Amino acid sequence: MSEWCQNKKCPEKKTSGQIRGSKGAKYYQSNKANGYGNGNFCTLGCQTDWDNEYIDRAIDTLGVRIHEPVKINLDDAWFVEYNYNWNNERQESDYTYVLRNKLQGVKQLITREQAQTPEDIQNDHRYSTIDDTQAKELAIQLGLAS
Ligand SMILES: [Zn+2]
Repeated sequence: MSEWCQNKKCPEKKTSGQIRGSKGAKYYQSNKANGYGNGNFCTLGCQTDWDNEYIDRAIDTLGVRIHEPVKINLDDAWFVEYNYNWNNERQESDYTYVLRNKLQGVKQLITREQAQTPEDIQNDHRYSTIDDTQAKELAIQLGLAS
Protein backbone atom coordinates (compact mmCIF):
# COMPACT_ATOMS: atom_id res chain seq x y z
CA MET A 1 0.00 0.00 0.00
CA SER A 2 1.08 3.57 -0.70
CA GLU A 3 -0.28 6.97 0.20
CA TRP A 4 0.34 8.34 -3.30
CA CYS A 5 -0.21 6.80 -6.72
CA GLN A 6 3.04 5.03 -7.68
CA ASN A 7 2.77 5.90 -11.38
CA LYS A 8 5.27 8.70 -11.89
CA LYS A 9 3.23 9.82 -14.90
CA CYS A 10 0.06 10.21 -12.82
CA PRO A 11 0.06 14.06 -12.92
CA GLU A 12 0.32 13.91 -16.72
CA LYS A 13 -3.39 13.14 -16.71
CA LYS A 14 -3.80 16.86 -15.94
CA THR A 15 -7.27 16.47 -14.45
CA SER A 16 -8.96 19.36 -12.64
CA GLY A 17 -8.81 17.37 -9.42
CA GLN A 18 -5.01 17.28 -9.62
CA ILE A 19 -4.57 21.07 -9.61
CA ARG A 20 -2.97 22.53 -6.48
CA GLY A 21 -1.32 25.85 -5.54
CA SER A 22 -2.46 29.43 -5.81
CA LYS A 23 -2.85 31.65 -8.84
CA GLY A 24 0.40 32.12 -10.73
CA ALA A 25 1.95 29.14 -8.96
CA LYS A 26 -0.42 26.34 -9.83
CA TYR A 27 0.70 22.79 -10.52
CA TYR A 28 -0.64 19.28 -11.09
CA GLN A 29 0.14 16.61 -8.56
CA SER A 30 -0.27 12.84 -8.28
CA ASN A 31 -3.55 11.45 -6.97
CA LYS A 32 -3.80 9.61 -3.69
CA ALA A 33 -3.52 5.88 -4.20
CA ASN A 34 -6.80 4.04 -4.28
CA GLY A 35 -7.75 0.39 -4.31
CA TYR A 36 -5.84 -0.51 -7.46
CA GLY A 37 -2.77 -2.75 -7.53
CA ASN A 38 -2.97 -3.65 -3.87
CA GLY A 39 -3.61 -0.03 -2.92
CA ASN A 40 -0.66 1.45 -4.81
CA PHE A 41 -2.39 3.23 -7.70
CA CYS A 42 -5.23 5.67 -8.25
CA THR A 43 -6.67 3.89 -11.29
CA LEU A 44 -6.22 0.75 -13.36
CA GLY A 45 -4.66 2.97 -16.06
CA CYS A 46 -1.91 4.11 -13.70
CA GLN A 47 -1.29 0.52 -12.63
CA THR A 48 -1.00 -0.50 -16.30
CA ASP A 49 1.52 2.31 -16.98
CA TRP A 50 3.64 1.10 -14.07
CA ASP A 51 3.33 -2.56 -15.13
CA ASN A 52 4.46 -1.77 -18.66
CA GLU A 53 7.62 -0.10 -17.39
CA TYR A 54 8.58 -2.25 -14.41
CA ILE A 55 6.95 -5.66 -14.47
CA ASP A 56 9.75 -7.55 -16.22
CA ARG A 57 12.31 -6.15 -13.81
CA ALA A 58 10.03 -6.93 -10.87
CA ILE A 59 9.64 -10.57 -11.91
CA ASP A 60 13.36 -11.02 -12.56
CA THR A 61 14.53 -9.15 -9.47
CA LEU A 62 12.28 -11.27 -7.29
CA GLY A 63 13.47 -14.39 -9.11
CA VAL A 64 9.91 -15.59 -9.62
CA ARG A 65 9.78 -15.94 -13.39
CA ILE A 66 7.97 -19.13 -14.39
CA HIS A 67 9.68 -21.05 -17.20
CA GLU A 68 7.35 -24.05 -17.40
CA PRO A 69 3.55 -24.07 -17.30
CA VAL A 70 2.12 -24.63 -13.84
CA LYS A 71 0.02 -27.79 -13.69
CA ILE A 72 -2.76 -29.07 -11.46
CA ASN A 73 -3.15 -32.84 -11.72
CA LEU A 74 -6.50 -34.56 -11.68
CA ASP A 75 -6.27 -35.56 -8.00
CA ASP A 76 -6.08 -31.90 -7.03
CA ALA A 77 -8.54 -30.52 -9.58
CA TRP A 78 -11.51 -30.31 -7.19
CA PHE A 79 -13.50 -27.14 -6.72
CA VAL A 80 -16.97 -26.02 -5.71
CA GLU A 81 -19.02 -23.72 -7.86
CA TYR A 82 -22.36 -22.06 -7.36
CA ASN A 83 -25.12 -21.53 -9.88
CA TYR A 84 -28.07 -19.27 -9.44
CA ASN A 85 -31.38 -18.79 -11.14
CA TRP A 86 -33.88 -16.06 -10.57
CA ASN A 87 -37.00 -17.41 -8.88
CA ASN A 88 -39.88 -15.24 -10.08
CA GLU A 89 -42.38 -16.51 -7.51
CA ARG A 90 -40.23 -15.80 -4.48
CA GLN A 91 -38.52 -12.77 -6.09
CA GLU A 92 -35.07 -14.02 -5.11
CA SER A 93 -32.24 -16.13 -6.50
CA ASP A 94 -32.13 -19.89 -6.02
CA TYR A 95 -28.58 -21.04 -5.43
CA THR A 96 -27.32 -24.54 -6.13
CA TYR A 97 -23.82 -25.83 -5.38
CA VAL A 98 -21.80 -28.37 -7.33
CA LEU A 99 -18.61 -30.22 -6.47
CA ARG A 100 -16.65 -30.43 -9.70
CA ASN A 101 -13.64 -32.12 -11.15
CA LYS A 102 -13.68 -31.48 -14.88
CA LEU A 103 -10.55 -33.59 -15.38
CA GLN A 104 -12.41 -36.59 -13.98
CA GLY A 105 -15.78 -35.67 -15.47
CA VAL A 106 -17.40 -35.27 -12.02
CA LYS A 107 -20.29 -32.87 -11.44
CA GLN A 108 -21.93 -33.70 -8.11
CA LEU A 109 -24.76 -31.67 -6.64
CA ILE A 110 -24.05 -30.89 -2.98
CA THR A 111 -25.89 -29.12 -0.17
CA ARG A 112 -25.29 -25.57 0.93
CA GLU A 113 -23.93 -26.93 4.22
CA GLN A 114 -21.33 -28.92 2.24
CA ALA A 115 -20.52 -26.07 -0.13
CA GLN A 116 -20.01 -23.31 2.39
CA THR A 117 -18.32 -22.67 5.70
CA PRO A 118 -20.54 -22.06 8.75
CA GLU A 119 -19.40 -18.41 8.61
CA ASP A 120 -20.58 -18.05 4.99
CA ILE A 121 -23.99 -19.43 5.93
CA GLN A 122 -24.24 -17.25 9.01
CA ASN A 123 -23.36 -14.14 6.98
CA ASP A 124 -25.70 -15.28 4.17
CA HIS A 125 -22.92 -15.00 1.56
CA ARG A 126 -24.71 -17.26 -0.92
CA TYR A 127 -22.03 -16.86 -3.62
CA SER A 128 -19.15 -17.86 -1.37
CA THR A 129 -17.81 -21.44 -1.43
CA ILE A 130 -15.20 -23.53 0.36
CA ASP A 131 -11.67 -23.40 -1.08
CA ASP A 132 -10.15 -26.04 -3.38
CA THR A 133 -8.34 -27.86 -0.55
CA GLN A 134 -11.62 -28.19 1.33
CA ALA A 135 -13.31 -29.26 -1.92
CA LYS A 136 -10.83 -32.13 -2.23
CA GLU A 137 -11.50 -33.15 1.38
CA LEU A 138 -15.23 -33.13 0.65
CA ALA A 139 -14.65 -35.32 -2.43
CA ILE A 140 -12.81 -37.82 -0.21
CA GLN A 141 -15.64 -37.73 2.39
CA LEU A 142 -18.19 -38.40 -0.33
CA GLY A 143 -16.16 -41.31 -1.69
CA LEU A 144 -15.47 -39.55 -4.99
CA ALA A 145 -11.73 -39.41 -4.38
CA SER A 146 -9.21 -41.18 -2.18
ZN1 LIG B 1 -2.38 7.66 -10.70
